[in-house]
Amino acid sequence: MNVLPKLLYLFQNLPVMRNNKLFQEWQKEITKFTWKGKKPRINYTIMTDEKRRGGFGLPNLKLYYESCGLVWVKDWATLEKNNILALESFDLRRGWHSYLWYSKRMIEKNFGNHFIRSSLIKIWEKYKERIYRKTPLWISPLEANQKKFLGWIKWPKYKEILRKKDGQYQLRSQEEIKQKYDKISWFQYAQMKEQFGKDKILGFNEIDNFWDVLMQNDKKEITRVYKKLLEWSTEIEYVKSCATKWARNIGRSIMMSEWETIWIIKQRYTYASDLQENWLKMFHRWHITPKKLAMMYKNTDNKCWKCKKQEGSYFHIWWTCPETKVYWKAIHEELQKILHKSFPMKPEFYLLGLTEEIMKVNSNEDKIFTYATTAARMIFAKYWKLRDIPTKQHWLEKLDEIYDMDKLTYLMRVNRGKAIKPTNWEKFEEYKEKLK
Ligand SMILES: [Zn+2]
Repeated sequence: MNVLPKLLYLFQNLPVMRNNKLFQEWQKEITKFTWKGKKPRINYTIMTDEKRRGGFGLPNLKLYYESCGLVWVKDWATLEKNNILALESFDLRRGWHSYLWYSKRMIEKNFGNHFIRSSLIKIWEKYKERIYRKTPLWISPLEANQKKFLGWIKWPKYKEILRKKDGQYQLRSQEEIKQKYDKISWFQYAQMKEQFGKDKILGFNEIDNFWDVLMQNDKKEITRVYKKLLEWSTEIEYVKSCATKWARNIGRSIMMSEWETIWIIKQRYTYASDLQENWLKMFHRWHITPKKLAMMYKNTDNKCWKCKKQEGSYFHIWWTCPETKVYWKAIHEELQKILHKSFPMKPEFYLLGLTEEIMKVNSNEDKIFTYATTAARMIFAKYWKLRDIPTKQHWLEKLDEIYDMDKLTYLMRVNRGKAIKPTNWEKFEEYKEKLK
């Protein structure tokens, strides 16, 4: 997407989007473009999710905007870029950390009068509690409590002034702190002590999270922040909708790790985009069913297009319909012949590629199985709205096409000096010999 770098430039330099309206409009335009003006079939949040989690990787502009904002806020937290910080804080009465952690924006209205500061702090406050439930160790209690800017270049942070004894945090002595910060007066030490007394009630965040890592890094890592925000924004969505429907259909719960196996490992087999597309469509239950159509339009028959008897739900057409069963049985038999194995005929093997240990297939056989079942689904999808079901012959032609393409891709990669492990097609070739 070519627009993204241009917008990122804008977001980084002028992070002042006051409300959601513009993002909603952009999102509407993108959706219109993606779906060619038709009604979207997949929810926008899922479209934006990462490919390794079954999404489509469509950029979420609002999250990019927020990521740029957070990368800016990072400088307020690290307190290292003194020149810039002095410029941005010229009219502030307290230190940065008082606004970032101790919510002083509510009392000191001055903070929000500055339009960039006001936008940025809102982004930070939106995510703050998600990032830290306890006081971060990068907080400097002294910086937060300064009434007028002292102009210090280095501020003592909790990480440096605390010590852990018997599992409890203690404030180091004034002498100890003075070894590194010789300007600390008794009054400032008392200020730190007072703040520490309050903060230890909530406790301190001990394990470094992504924000701590970000702060230790010099670079502007918009992508890293974006990925995190994306993960949070999609976490409820992707477990919910399609995955639970599939679990209901196959009659058992599907572990998250199983989904991840398909998203991460199997996507690597299916580098060809139409194979990947089929897989994504299956997972997201893309194909429109008579059941859905009947809900959308009155006087539309909800019966299955194949058997014309039962209600045409997604799972019925793809699996339980007696007509469809004939197709899958044929493929199931042939695949057992090809692989010299016998295994049960389960919908999750054929529709989702969720292979199991009981199949006793090695990684190469798993790859062939994935190709073969994907071919079967692609052919079946071509007959989606038809009364007929495809034949075994149709399927074998498609599999042959994938076979050729796999070989060709291998040769091209080798030619470019990128050696990859070739697929071992011997068993399939043997099978084809016998058919002749
Ligand atoms: Zn049917």
